[in-house]
Amino acid sequence: MKLKKGLVQIYTGNGKGKTTAAFGLAIRAAGAGGKVYILQFIKGKTYSEIRILKKIKNIKIEQCGRGCFIKKKPDKEDRERARKGLRKAQTNIASGRYDLVVLDEVNIALNLGLLETKDVTALIKQKPSSVELVLTGRYCPRALFKYADLVTEMREVKHPYQKGIKARPGIEF
Ligand code: ATP
Ligand code: MG
Repeated sequence: MKLKKGLVQIYTGNGKGKTTAAFGLAIRAAGAGGKVYILQFIKGKTYSEIRILKKIKNIKIEQCGRGCFIKKKPDKEDRERARKGLRKAQTNIASGRYDLVVLDEVNIALNLGLLETKDVTALIKQKPSSVELVLTGRYCPRALFKYADLVTEMREVKHPYQKGIKARPGIEF
């Protein structure tokens, strides 16, 4: 599926659907014969989608987070994991092995101060032109928008969480 010109996409906002959109795109690219690399920041649990994506031949998926969403203040370990993750992403992007690279929840890592916007900007600028790059997560720094070709902001209009419906396996995770 070699792309002549891979673009940069951002899925952000507080509405549901950012990770599912990015993983849906990964499936589409793999279906077209593309090679996909997904790195999920912050999170580390084996969610249902991780389990199934691991079984798809053209998709390599890894996590660099710590079990679950950071509820307490992030510490040195969280910072190191995020930084190491970003370096790994950079290596994989540069390798020429992948057509699509998804950095899921990287925006959260930026928002928590685990990564710096300039590091992600550098990663975007250095990417080979054949790679399509997708960055997801709420609170994407506005400064990144100018480097993106596509920005979608999911906006919460309604979410079942508001009326006390808890996250359901197979739907939310
Ligand atoms: P999804 O993984 O369902 O595509 P997301 O990537 O857009 O959601 P995140 O910010 O990563 O959303 O949310 C983490 C968890 O919170 C997921 O289980 C998600 O389904 C859920 N969630 C997403 N949006 C909302 C919301 N507006 N209110 C409550 N929970 C939400
Ligand atoms: Mg998400």
